Amino acid sequence: MEKKSIVSLRKIKGNNLKVEIEKTVGLIGGMKKFVNKGSKVLLKPNLVYPYPPPMITSPEFIKAVAELVFEAGAKEVWIGDSSSYTGKPQYGNSRWENKDIFKIHGIDKIAETTGAKILNFDECETVRVKIKDGIILKEVDFFKPVLDADIIINLPALKMHFQTLVTLGIKNYHGIITDYWKMQFHKDEISQKIVDLHKVIKTNLTIIDGIIAMQGLGPRTGTDVKMDVILASEDIVAVDAVASEVMGLRADEVETTRLAHQQGIGIGDIDSITVLGDKIKDVAKTLDRPDTRIEGIFPGINVIKGGVCIHCYGRARIFLDTLLKSGFYEKANIKTVIIGVKPKIPELKDLKGNVLIVGDCANFEASNLRTMLKDRIFVVEGCPPLVSVHNVLDKIYKKFA
Ligand code: SF4
Repeated sequence: MEKKSIVSLRKIKGNNLKVEIEKTVGLIGGMKKFVNKGSKVLLKPNLVYPYPPPMITSPEFIKAVAELVFEAGAKEVWIGDSSSYTGKPQYGNSRWENKDIFKIHGIDKIAETTGAKILNFDECETVRVKIKDGIILKEVDFFKPVLDADIIINLPALKMHFQTLVTLGIKNYHGIITDYWKMQFHKDEISQKIVDLHKVIKTNLTIIDGIIAMQGLGPRTGTDVKMDVILASEDIVAVDAVASEVMGLRADEVETTRLAHQQGIGIGDIDSITVLGDKIKDVAKTLDRPDTRIEGIFPGINVIKGGVCIHCYGRARIFLDTLLKSGFYEKANIKTVIIGVKPKIPELKDLKGNVLIVGDCANFEASNLRTMLKDRIFVVEGCPPLVSVHNVLDKIYKKFA
């Protein structure tokens, strides 16, 4: 079968990260092949959280790429991202703002030393763009620099993700849209919506930071695995396909890869991809997959569920895992979790201890319970519930401190 896309995959062998990235990109033609002299280049790392790698792309990785891009002849290098949905529009409070993330990770210092410019997307103008071939998404607001850049270099981290199985190159573009759209994306059909974005944004090069991967309940509460790999390709779909196999998955298990392949964005069929450098089998590790089960997992807790989406399940799992680790599990005394669309609401007399409601669907059905249980109930609001998970946990810590 004729190979249609090329991905470079290299195990890191030395101590100089810049040289390692240069060699990886060198296998597919070198940085000069992608960066035109005098061009404006946008680097899009994963700066989703104010927490260290592998939750984000390593700052030293971003710095090394910025230097290489300047050396290849770029006139301007922009480092731009918008972090995870912060809850600001909904709650008016948040644990962080995008500008904090650049500071916390020292991206401002990287900009200073390399001459790159930081673009806090949350402070940038937005432009509404029509997506003619969008299957679900027919229009979206992009941060303007994404459209203004001559070249886009995508710098994702290597992570499992409880909603999309992985978050790699394709999913990394969740950070080029506003909080409003991020919220809409998380409600349903997130994979197709993300793929629709790629129909109007052309990625020139994707370089994946696989120094440390996140396994398990990514994108935030998984665990670290040292991988020491770098992947690069001009085909964002092909690089995701190979990266998934490096994580011990089959490329076609990942919905974003399958959809993007089917809809002509790139090549996701692993048999149609030429891998240069190291062999997948020599560097792959079987990472833990995201586990969103909650029934029968948490001691003493009964789960009452309606038709529940993965979003609510995943957030409930994150909530209960975090509570368990926090040392407040016993004190919080949660004996019932109610979740999903139209759950069968128990009678008051059958409810012992405290009750946790997850998601707006369950919250709506349980409106009577809320009145009757008063301070015996915790409500994780939202559809899907995002930042409220951590806000309610904070309330529990405060209440039982
Ligand atoms: S609140 Fe309802 S519709 Fe929204 S994510 Fe949860 S179960 Fe799905």
